[in-house]
Amino acid sequence: MRTIRVHQPGGPEALVLEDLPVPTPGEGQVLVRLQAIGVNYIDTYKRAGLYKVPTPFTLGEEGAGVVEAVGAGVTSVAPGDLVVYCNVQGSYAEYALVPAEKVVKVPPGLSVKTAVAGMLQGLTAHYLVKSTYPLKAGETCLVHAGAGGVGLLLIQMAKMLGARVIATASSEEKRRLAREAGGDFALPYESFDQKVRELTEGRGVDVVYDGVGQATFEGSLNSLRVRGMLVLYGQSSGPVPPFDPQVLNQKGGLYLTRPSLWHYTQTREELLWRASEVMGWALEGRLKIRIGAEFPLDQAAEAHRALQGRATTGKVLLIP
Ligand code: NDP
Repeated sequence: MRTIRVHQPGGPEALVLEDLPVPTPGEGQVLVRLQAIGVNYIDTYKRAGLYKVPTPFTLGEEGAGVVEAVGAGVTSVAPGDLVVYCNVQGSYAEYALVPAEKVVKVPPGLSVKTAVAGMLQGLTAHYLVKSTYPLKAGETCLVHAGAGGVGLLLIQMAKMLGARVIATASSEEKRRLAREAGGDFALPYESFDQKVRELTEGRGVDVVYDGVGQATFEGSLNSLRVRGMLVLYGQSSGPVPPFDPQVLNQKGGLYLTRPSLWHYTQTREELLWRASEVMGWALEGRLKIRIGAEFPLDQAAEAHRALQGRATTGKVLLIP
């Protein structure tokens, strides 16, 4: 089977196409023949060595496709079922071995591509608005990179909860997408903190969902109300440097958290709750899951260049 592997961390050129034998599922494992693979920003951190993974490894941690075979003890799915999963290393490939407890069935009526496009990023948006800072009707949030994979889903979910949404994005076209997703305002990044103060009559927003990191961190703190929360959930512009907690006092008794999806899918029940809500909203048409670009598996490096070059919107997929 074709796989995309990393032997030496580096730029997109570190992605190597390799042939490996199709694996056999062991106890509790499911062999999935992948039909669509999710590209996520975390894949670029692992490829570059910002997040350390023992080499060599197959990149990617999200996929969807057909169950080809199951190992001993697996009763939740059977060969022929359509399934989706995330947070399991090794999805840039034609086949993947996945622990059965990580696999979710794709409901009838939902395409495999839409299911995978709403999985890692959809579950992330879900935990951010429902659990990390549970948004209430009438509150105001700031969402950075509002036309990105997580961003477009976050905006829609925040609006479902009755919140007011201020988004940022780098181009007019991206700001248009953020507004179409329901954003009340879509701003360029320049002096966004001042603009946020104006839009909130000087008060500041209740919460900032910041996946951009280094470039926006300080402005995000400046945008919060007294006792507001900065949810730093990513770093597409680079990691935030070491930080003096006294700043949280000076800027208004603020809260800062740095969560990962893993912290919010601790049990099978929690995973299924989030996945069934996200897929249910997609089936009802309440949540639009935008697939912005598709690349053949062997062009994974191009997909990374596009994602890191800020040239994508919504979800990026690899097709085996
Ligand atoms: P996106 O589709 O949002 O792509 C990243 C976007 O970041 C770009 O499109 C760009 O939008 C913006 N950006 C701002 N500055 C830069 C820069 N210097 N270089 C590149 N991009 C920049 O990616 P994802 O939706 O996959 O992920 C978004 C963030 O969320 C990432 O940081 C990721 O690591 C994080 N994440 C965290 C999770 C968690 O559980 N903690 C789970 C999933 C994702 P624009 O041009 O509009 O600025």
